[in-house]
Amino acid sequence: MAYPGELSYRQILVGRFMSGMIGLDEIFAELYEAGRAPDEALVPELLAGARKDNYIPVVAEADYAAALLREYRKYNEQRESGCACRTDYGTWRGILREQIPWYPTLYEHLCDDCGKCVSFCSEKVFAFTEDDQSVYVASPLKCQVGCAECARICPPKAIAFPPRTVLQAFWG
Ligand code: SF4
Ligand code: SF4
Repeated sequence: MAYPGELSYRQILVGRFMSGMIGLDEIFAELYEAGRAPDEALVPELLAGARKDNYIPVVAEADYAAALLREYRKYNEQRESGCACRTDYGTWRGILREQIPWYPTLYEHLCDDCGKCVSFCSEKVFAFTEDDQSVYVASPLKCQVGCAECARICPPKAIAFPPRTVLQAFWG
């Protein structure tokens, strides 16, 4: 989704953490329209394109490369299926959900991948990785603004949320 006069904004999973990035939809659209397939050969271009508007630390480059390629693959599938749009996460108090910084952070060093949060959250915010070995925050923007119930049920307290005061800016 592009905001008027601005670049698009996407939250993408980098390693096990979400990263907000701008301008990706514009890069993906250009590549797709040029008929570029989402394969490994595209990684240098994806990284260079993303770096124009985002900070990508060299130490995390491999994680960003994997994340960008995965995201472009999803974009390709959407376009191939005839859908050029992104998921509509709706609004909260009249504000686009993407603009509200409310979703869980999972502390990898505390999480034992028990899967309780995966079965607990009805919004399917958490999921297991493809190899079924690890839990990650798969769909952060599906998290209900103001809810923090999964943090309560996580045995090792591996889930954190921002302080509720961050929502006060949206009370209007
Ligand atoms: S409930 Fe807590 S420990 Fe269990 S998988 Fe979820 S975050 Fe990890
Ligand atoms: S806070 Fe609620 S909606 Fe958000 S991830 Fe946890 S259980 Fe799901």
